[in-house]
Amino acid sequence: MDTMKLADQHIFNTYARYPLAFTKGEACTLYDEDGKAYSDFIAGIAVCNLGHAHSKLIKALTGQAQALWHVSNLFYTRPQAQLAAWLTKSSFADRVFFANSGAEANEAGIKLARKYFKQKGEPDRYRVVAMEQSFHGRTMATLSATGQEKIRKGFDPVLEGFDFAPFNDLGAIDAAVTAKTCAVMIEPIQGEGGVVCPEPGFFKRVRELCDQKGCLLILDEVQTGIGRTGKLFAHEHFGIQPDIMTLAKALANGLPIGAMLAKEHVAQAFGPGSHATTFGGTPLITSVALKVLETIHDEKILDLCCETGAYFKQKLIELQKKHSVIRNVRGYGLLLGVELGKSGANLVKNCMQKGFLINCVQDNVLRLAPPLIISKGEIDALIDCLDELLDD
Ligand SMILES: *Cc1c(COP(=O)(O)O)cnc(C)c1O
Repeated sequence: MDTMKLADQHIFNTYARYPLAFTKGEACTLYDEDGKAYSDFIAGIAVCNLGHAHSKLIKALTGQAQALWHVSNLFYTRPQAQLAAWLTKSSFADRVFFANSGAEANEAGIKLARKYFKQKGEPDRYRVVAMEQSFHGRTMATLSATGQEKIRKGFDPVLEGFDFAPFNDLGAIDAAVTAKTCAVMIEPIQGEGGVVCPEPGFFKRVRELCDQKGCLLILDEVQTGIGRTGKLFAHEHFGIQPDIMTLAKALANGLPIGAMLAKEHVAQAFGPGSHATTFGGTPLITSVALKVLETIHDEKILDLCCETGAYFKQKLIELQKKHSVIRNVRGYGLLLGVELGKSGANLVKNCMQKGFLINCVQDNVLRLAPPLIISKGEIDALIDCLDELLDD
């Protein structure tokens, strides 16, 4: 039976999939079952930042696969320790907890913020202020922190203790943070929310507000981290540091991993038995994640992302001048949003037919998140395709 029929009969119907089944990837190109090639401007939703089938990652994966996959967290393994050392050396954080996904990393962050204040003797500080239009995952706690009705619908009652304010609205955030708030939880750029970027000075003020009111700042860098915006972590653009940061998506370029990082005094709230997960930080996956970070460093991928991202954005701005349906072009590095004056669903389908995979969020915002190794030639080809397909 054909792949799509087989899947549609036997897999939960939770995804509105496009009628495409892929068999192979090479750098920024994917191949479907008929051998047709597609330029990948989604990268598995900001996951495959080093593209598909990267030779160094294949070598790290297959090398480790022959040595050791899994032993549980009852024991030490070197790749896990080395990855944690690399992450803390490269960030504000002192310690890392390894999980398996973005939702789980966020779940760990929320638990840590609550535990931190329990330990400090402030048990009433348990509430989290999150943003409207945010996305933090699909577990009960993370969907409770997600400010989108469509994601929470049908799962009431969601968890107690989450308050919301609009992103970029400092007055509303100030009003939402009370003596019961343990943390403000926020994405540096709201990816699922429509590639919504912070206004100048926004994060500096949020940081000050958290300090004044005595709560923690949790940054969800699940989508923006690992070089996506041209810095290793997006908050580096804004000159601030969080107390807790979460990572996932691109950390192992497509293998499942999540990480929750914190400064020492906050991390101290978790001791033996506080939190755990069977698969978190297995040697197989952490050895690949370590190679991802080494490769980003050795091949100067952050510089490349800044340069290519600026080129791509400029091309999109030129396209906006020719097509009035484009309302706005925004984003950092290679996380770019193109807001349209109409739904983008047909454009996505038409691009697909022409061999380009792009993504649309919030119905009318094209989200462009190719591998960070995308070439200017591949960008030019997509721009030509969009130029041809946009009709006004
Ligand atoms: C994708 C994403 C998540 C959820 O990650 P999963 O691995 O799907 O659980 C959380 N936060 C942000 C910002 C994301 O983009």
